[in-house]
Amino acid sequence: MNEHSRFDDLHIETLAVRAAVERSQYGENSEALYLTSGYVQPTAAAAAARFAGDEEGYTYGRYGNPTVSSMEMRLAALEGTEAAMGTASGMSAILMMCLGLLKAGDHVLCSRSMFGSTIKLIGSDLAKFGVESSFVSQTDLSEWQAAIRPNTRLLFAETPTNPLTEVCDIQALADLAHNAGALFALDNCFATPALQRPVAMGADIIMHSGTKYLDGQGRVMAGALCAPQQMITEKFLPVLKSGGMTLAPFNAWVVLKGLETLDLRMRAQSARAQILAEWLEKHPSVARVHYPGLASHPQHHLAMRQMSGLGGAVLSFHVKADGPEQARQRAFHVMDQMQVLSLSTNLGDTKTLVAHPASTSHGRLTEAQRQAAGIGQGLIRVAVGLEYPQDIQKDLSRGLDTL
Ligand SMILES: *Cc1c(COP(=O)(O)O)cnc(C)c1O
Repeated sequence: MNEHSRFDDLHIETLAVRAAVERSQYGENSEALYLTSGYVQPTAAAAAARFAGDEEGYTYGRYGNPTVSSMEMRLAALEGTEAAMGTASGMSAILMMCLGLLKAGDHVLCSRSMFGSTIKLIGSDLAKFGVESSFVSQTDLSEWQAAIRPNTRLLFAETPTNPLTEVCDIQALADLAHNAGALFALDNCFATPALQRPVAMGADIIMHSGTKYLDGQGRVMAGALCAPQQMITEKFLPVLKSGGMTLAPFNAWVVLKGLETLDLRMRAQSARAQILAEWLEKHPSVARVHYPGLASHPQHHLAMRQMSGLGGAVLSFHVKADGPEQARQRAFHVMDQMQVLSLSTNLGDTKTLVAHPASTSHGRLTEAQRQAAGIGQGLIRVAVGLEYPQDIQKDLSRGLDTL
């Protein structure tokens, strides 16, 4: 929501610690946290001009806040978009995008491998209001092409996906969308701008769950949309004002400070994930590892091209077993033997988080749907943190070596 001129020719690593609104009169070096729901107006005429949008200035906490603006400026600088808008969570960013861009009768085309709540929001909740949707293969471009309709307004994907780390071709999907007169939005939650800059590959809108790597230490809920200034002002700001999916200033401040170390964290956590993936691939109790940084990953070359040569911090693997029942037992055994790592379905933390997708994030699916999605009972997801790599291996070995 602010002009960037001051930051025009700075490198991304500098922007990550510097892009923010102006210092207050006190000259604080660390960005201020403005906890206020309202603002005092200098004159009645100024208040009128600000509410009418004719003059810059904060009017009410639901509409804007300087700490939130700082987070938005910094994230937009990292993603390479003109502007960004913070939201209360990742899901509320998706809701804002859909409310801002779609109406009854419009069609959204998404990957079938997207985050579960995204599929529920677009496929069920928005369907009640007449928004059409279809879900196609993450990796088969011809399926996307064939599913385009005359009323398709938005293509929406996520890469790599959760928990199987499937990678889609950002440039190809952006081209497909633009040829159809539609917009292309990308959920950049797993790779973050530290590894992947979708705007440079043609994406129109970048969506974030700030809850994950942007905060990076598992503290707050947050979300954002990064997009051209005009889209933010004309499509999303009105939805924010009436819908109220406003990012809390405290949460914005936590994310703002998290962004300062995003690049360092993503590189360190990706390096650890690579070591762990290579080790798991050789473990006799492991049937298969999903990780974009492995040569065995089906879209390895595409992933390396899109993700700055790194695989990200999330991997998943299947324990060897005979049938789903034994697979579940064995996966539970591995997780229950851990003494250091956290059994938690979240991701994007400096602490390594381990989860069993089939009984948690994908627990509501039928066994047949899970099989089709590749989420077997023996699948374990690891969101790798910053612990010493050999300690992570040792903790997983407790269970893996005793199957
Ligand atoms: C967590 C997540 C979301 C939703 O974000 P919240 O902040 O939990 O609302 C969306 N997409 C992906 C890929 C996620 O991992």
